[in-house]
Amino acid sequence: MSYVVWFKDLTKDSIAVAGGKGSNLGEMYQLHVPVPNGFAVTAQTYKEFIERTRIKDTIQQLLQGLNVEETDALQAVAEQIQRLIVSVPVPEDIAEEIMDNYELLGAEKGAQSLVQGNEVFVAVRSSATAEDLPSASFAGQQATFLNVKGKESVVLAVRSCWASLFTARAIYYREKQKFDHAKVLISAIIQKMVNAEKSGIMFTINPATNHADEIVIEAVYGLGEMIVGGEVNPNTYIVDKNTRETKKMEVRAQDVGLFRNAQGLNEKRAIPKEMQERQVLDQKQVQELTRLGKKLEEHYGQPQDIEWAVERGEVFIVQTRAVTTFKSHQEERSTMTEEGGKILLKGETASAGVYSGPVRIVLNPNELGKIQKGDILVTPMTTPDMVPAMQRAGAIITNEGGLTCHAAIVSREMGTPCIVGTEHATDVLKDGEIVTVHASRGIVYEGAMEIKPEGKVITPSAEGHEDILTATEIKVILDLPDFADKAAATGADGVGLVRSEIIIATGGIHPAEYMRQGKQKEYVSLLKNGIRKVAKAFKPRPVWVRCSDMRSDEYRGLAGGDKEPKETDPMIGWHAIRRLLDEPEILRCEFQAIRELHYEGYKNVGVMIPFVIRVEEVRKAKEIMRSVGLEPCKAIQFGIMVETPAACWIMEDICKEGISFVSFGTNDLTQLTLGIDRNNEKIAPLFNEMHPAVLGEIAKVIKVCKKYGVKTSVCGQAGSRPEMADFLVHQGVDSISANVDAVESIRRTVARVERKVMMEKK
Ligand code: PEP
Ligand code: MG
Repeated sequence: MSYVVWFKDLTKDSIAVAGGKGSNLGEMYQLHVPVPNGFAVTAQTYKEFIERTRIKDTIQQLLQGLNVEETDALQAVAEQIQRLIVSVPVPEDIAEEIMDNYELLGAEKGAQSLVQGNEVFVAVRSSATAEDLPSASFAGQQATFLNVKGKESVVLAVRSCWASLFTARAIYYREKQKFDHAKVLISAIIQKMVNAEKSGIMFTINPATNHADEIVIEAVYGLGEMIVGGEVNPNTYIVDKNTRETKKMEVRAQDVGLFRNAQGLNEKRAIPKEMQERQVLDQKQVQELTRLGKKLEEHYGQPQDIEWAVERGEVFIVQTRAVTTFKSHQEERSTMTEEGGKILLKGETASAGVYSGPVRIVLNPNELGKIQKGDILVTPMTTPDMVPAMQRAGAIITNEGGLTCHAAIVSREMGTPCIVGTEHATDVLKDGEIVTVHASRGIVYEGAMEIKPEGKVITPSAEGHEDILTATEIKVILDLPDFADKAAATGADGVGLVRSEIIIATGGIHPAEYMRQGKQKEYVSLLKNGIRKVAKAFKPRPVWVRCSDMRSDEYRGLAGGDKEPKETDPMIGWHAIRRLLDEPEILRCEFQAIRELHYEGYKNVGVMIPFVIRVEEVRKAKEIMRSVGLEPCKAIQFGIMVETPAACWIMEDICKEGISFVSFGTNDLTQLTLGIDRNNEKIAPLFNEMHPAVLGEIAKVIKVCKKYGVKTSVCGQAGSRPEMADFLVHQGVDSISANVDAVESIRRTVARVERKVMMEKK
């Protein structure tokens, strides 16, 4: 038997031999897409390795009877197995065949340079075979070793890939998915590294406008990492997919680039003066990329997000995956061609998608009952007590609000098309009339319309996520427990924020009313049942629940809500921890619910208090927590939301008081730092979480927290913005929480930025 198979002999049906990644590379090879060449050390070779070295039985024994819910035991077994694999020599005939083929790869004539002797730089990647489920990439960790050179090093990297089949996370997932450990094998892919003189990304759909007729290419000199770091602005080319004409080209000067040196390390080099302002790609290369982009999209039947590189003038495709998320900008929208229908309204895209149906106008929460399944909910502004009706709605349109308003947050989580900030929806639209909500473009059309393919919505696929490893944890924001399984399937490292208000709203009664009626137990049960769903879906991953933060204007629709005070500015009124300490019985019940969940075994539940401005709030909340029998920071992770400039200024004292973590609520922090009402659509363009004042506060808090060993995280909407993720990784944040539809793209961004940060440190 041959221990290796070259890409030329692999196809999409080779998963059993070369795993998902290897078969995908083979498939591209068959398509004549120029991928850097290489070969797979087959999955059967791994099998033979564990059989011939007689470690197979030991591995089985170690796994037998393991309870993967016991995190420490799981970790210990995972480490033992991995140590075992890397301690056993690779049998000589296998090692020799790998080395011979590596030399053949180096001897190949090709564009790739930096070959010294036959020692070519390669990437060694693991590629697992999960039977019947090519998308279950989690079954094997995606261990990747870049810039490997020398035949012995390659063999060692292959063995490390094999070991990565037994990380704690991989074992845990296989158990959960009921895969037989012995049946999941792993292949190691050995592929030439491209020595990129130019590189970039290509989307076969315009991600800003969701326009399917456009291909967008971004290009820089050198390696693409600098784009993500924001250090250089890439050239942008927008190409018409049908005519292949370049519709728009933006050339931005680039004076420095990142290149690999002869030792395989990345180094910054100045770009010669005469090249700095010249377009990075010549017309031939743009055409070639366009051709390849179209080919890949046609072949996979979905828009693709492609990484490419050019070496010695030749274009290579390094990676391709389905586009799963896209953003939308008001400015870009106004320049787009429209579907030809009559436009009734325009607003801001809060949650993308297209939907046609009958309008139901709700001016008062007591009219919510009229929303039937599939209706379009049209309302001045959604409030959390509308959540059950929002779940029935096919689409949502509001007069007010920006991207961080309640309607936007919840509709994104539900995947319901939603347009906010239309100003006049409740006046312009009529009850019962049929309209088409083209939320991806922020447009409401008259009547039911057939939207052309570019309006197609692309939603994240539950199992399609890649298992990219990042040092920074990527978590998800989750307010609706019914969507917990969908959120858990993103592979997020935990839940960075559960807004308990949403669970409360589904109960229909205001917390203060439970207290007035002496129904504390019912309140505890309601919370417990909601939080349990999330804790269960994510166990053993951490789930941080926020104590209730109920603004007085948002919950009038709940029983007892009419007794809430009328405030001039509820945003900065009687809510969150300041209110909970005035009505400590509510807070006690919330802690009690979490205490009981810990008792049930859901020790992964942590808690945080919102809108902190004083140290004594932290102290008092901890006392109340102790009164229900939970020791904060010891028995349970206890944190605060950083949502006010005050919290930033007194962070040192808060850390001294003792907390486990802080989480930046950038929605409120931006609102309060900039003095911009987050729900006011008139000033929405000024709402910018990347404002230097906000970034300065975040940087300061992270620095202080590091001094005290307090973990830092972000759970505002800004965590779903790549530029914020980039900034946070540079500051050394511990975790970032993104919306469910942004987890995968933020993880990719973070992985790229982390690589860059590591290179900077070298
Ligand atoms: C925030 O303010 O950023 C936050 C996450 O809380 P909310 O959006 O619920 O106010
Ligand atoms: Mg907030």
